[in-house]
Amino acid sequence: MEGQSIELELNIMAMPELTDSTEPGQTAVGETDAAPQAIAEVRRWTIDDSENLYRITGWGEPYFSINAAGHVTVSPQADHGGALDLYELVKGLRQRNIGLPLLLRFSDILADRINRLNAAFARGIARYRYPNTYRGVYPIKCNQHRHIVESLVRYGTPYNFGLEAGSKPELMIALAMLQPQENPEPDQQNQPLLICNGYKDREYIETALLARRLGHRPIIVVEQVAEVALAIEISRNLGIKPILGVRAKLSTQGMGRWGISTGDRAKFGLTIPEMLTAIGQLRQADMLDSLQLLHFHIGSQISSISVIKEAMTEASQIFVQLAKLGGNMRYLDVGGGLGVDYDGSKTNFYASKNYNIQNYVNDVISAVQDACVAAEIPCPVLISESGRAIASHQSVLIFDIVATNDINPPLPKVKAKDHAILRNLMETWETITVDNYQEAYHDVEQFKTEAISLFNFGYLGLKERAKAEEIYWACCRKILQICRQQEYVPDDLENLEVNLASIYYANMSVFQSAPDSWAIDQLFPIMPIHRLDEEPTQRGILADITCDSDGKIDRFIDLRDVKSVLELHPLMEIEQEDAPPRVEPYYLGMFLVGAYQEIMGNLHNLFGDINVVHIQMNPKGYQIEHLVRGDTIAEVLGYVQYDPEDLLENMRRYCEQAMEDKRMSLEESQLLLENYERSLLQYTYLKPTSGIHTS
Ligand SMILES: *Cc1c(COP(=O)(O)O)cnc(C)c1O
Repeated sequence: MEGQSIELELNIMAMPELTDSTEPGQTAVGETDAAPQAIAEVRRWTIDDSENLYRITGWGEPYFSINAAGHVTVSPQADHGGALDLYELVKGLRQRNIGLPLLLRFSDILADRINRLNAAFARGIARYRYPNTYRGVYPIKCNQHRHIVESLVRYGTPYNFGLEAGSKPELMIALAMLQPQENPEPDQQNQPLLICNGYKDREYIETALLARRLGHRPIIVVEQVAEVALAIEISRNLGIKPILGVRAKLSTQGMGRWGISTGDRAKFGLTIPEMLTAIGQLRQADMLDSLQLLHFHIGSQISSISVIKEAMTEASQIFVQLAKLGGNMRYLDVGGGLGVDYDGSKTNFYASKNYNIQNYVNDVISAVQDACVAAEIPCPVLISESGRAIASHQSVLIFDIVATNDINPPLPKVKAKDHAILRNLMETWETITVDNYQEAYHDVEQFKTEAISLFNFGYLGLKERAKAEEIYWACCRKILQICRQQEYVPDDLENLEVNLASIYYANMSVFQSAPDSWAIDQLFPIMPIHRLDEEPTQRGILADITCDSDGKIDRFIDLRDVKSVLELHPLMEIEQEDAPPRVEPYYLGMFLVGAYQEIMGNLHNLFGDINVVHIQMNPKGYQIEHLVRGDTIAEVLGYVQYDPEDLLENMRRYCEQAMEDKRMSLEESQLLLENYERSLLQYTYLKPTSGIHTS
């Protein structure tokens, strides 16, 4: 069994194309009465078909869609502005020498996300007549890049949207990027908050406290009991009163990937006994009025609204109890977790969420209000720390396919004098029908195993083994065609689709640009950004250009499910004079990648940061707001402590020596050194001309 599966993998490289159901020059016995494709009416593929297939409306609304030209469009201002043709945009950027892969960031999408979140809270507050306000903060860890934090602060200003820091470096970003209030009002209602989370040392707390003098409104959220004593001491030394919060370890389980963020064993937060200890310490220091905020965070990408309801119920009760114990409770911070619908199914599947922003907001507001009204304590200012829901949609990763392995060798001729195993295989190929395809599959598997044994014992030559494999793949393909038309596919045939899939070689590194896809099996919507008026006849998986076998994507969004192959178009070749045919660029987009992917990406194989283009809409169309060039090879070599000058110097010496020994000509030496020197200044990814079709 094991040997067989290895064999199948090796054979992926040599498998026939999937599209045609009839082999050239062959008339199959028994095919006429069985072939369902002969009956099915040939219908032209439309963009609606692509829309359904890639589910773009589900995950992309209101930002991404498909236009009549069959290209993906982006509407950064949602329903309030124009749409850009993504394919034309990428073509234009290529003409400006901006190489692929590249990350497009649409700052208008960021603005729209902030508007939506704040509008939802405004609506909820009005609907429930909630007697207080909402003060959201953006968790910097979600995407720390300067242009993004700058945009967020700018777009957040009308809403007094603040920032959340989870570490000292992030605190330093927040302090310098938020505009302090010169004459803060006593209750500082109209001021963005600065939520200070994460583990803290003396400097962290000191810096945060001193920032109050600048006119910032930092709230120090206690994550560990020891931080209370530290905060008390530093506050006394500086003579500055802190605003403190406590992070609760809820018993509500977050479920899914981040379920471990809660519960007694969670890494962060105070248990109820610890909270009581903290209150005791603050009371003793006569600082209980500093305790103003309760914080919790039950994990990211909460798929089910019931988990949010449950957490809100528990947190609201803790809030009320803290107030009763003498805390000066004015803020409830519900953390992150607001999900993104990556597969567009609107379900509690892990790549989705079964609620919208308004449902989330309503549940937050009503739970707090119910608890506070019942306990007759004032309703708090509401804070949320939504990162994923704000930052994901703004970024689109664009990469090109440099090659595929969808070769299509003709079905070999089998003669009467050929080995019986070949004749058996061919006979099976000829007689596959809808009535016997499962049995036929078992037969060809058996024949293939036999063919390999015969080869190993020396009874089959290399050419015969090749023939056997070719017929085997042709059989599999024919069986797959039948399977695809069945409502139910027997378990043992389920792998057929995967085993017959083409490999599309993608000019990118999963480790650099989609680390969560590799590390935690996260699903991102992926689709071609053009040719969407054309049927994607191939089924493929994506392999990146790192030399790591994990550098691949073979899990794709589906309705409440994961599919193991993606429908793609065959690469098209352009004939060239005096040169081998060139591959027509084929661009894929990976969407909703604006949260977490950039900073967690790594330099595996020394593929560096990619080019980033910030696009902003204006009344005439769009403008490139910023271009952040990706790493050059010299830069990534520098990260691992190589000095490009030293490397070049070594190369020069070796060339001199080789020329002296007459192993190398002057021209060869020049060419090598020129290439070496030029490469140092180049992008770490492949250039477009390197596209080669492997057939
Ligand atoms: C990561 C994190 C967030 C952001 O979570 P999202 O699910 O991206 O909204 C918010 N608060 C804290 C404390 C976090 O650690």
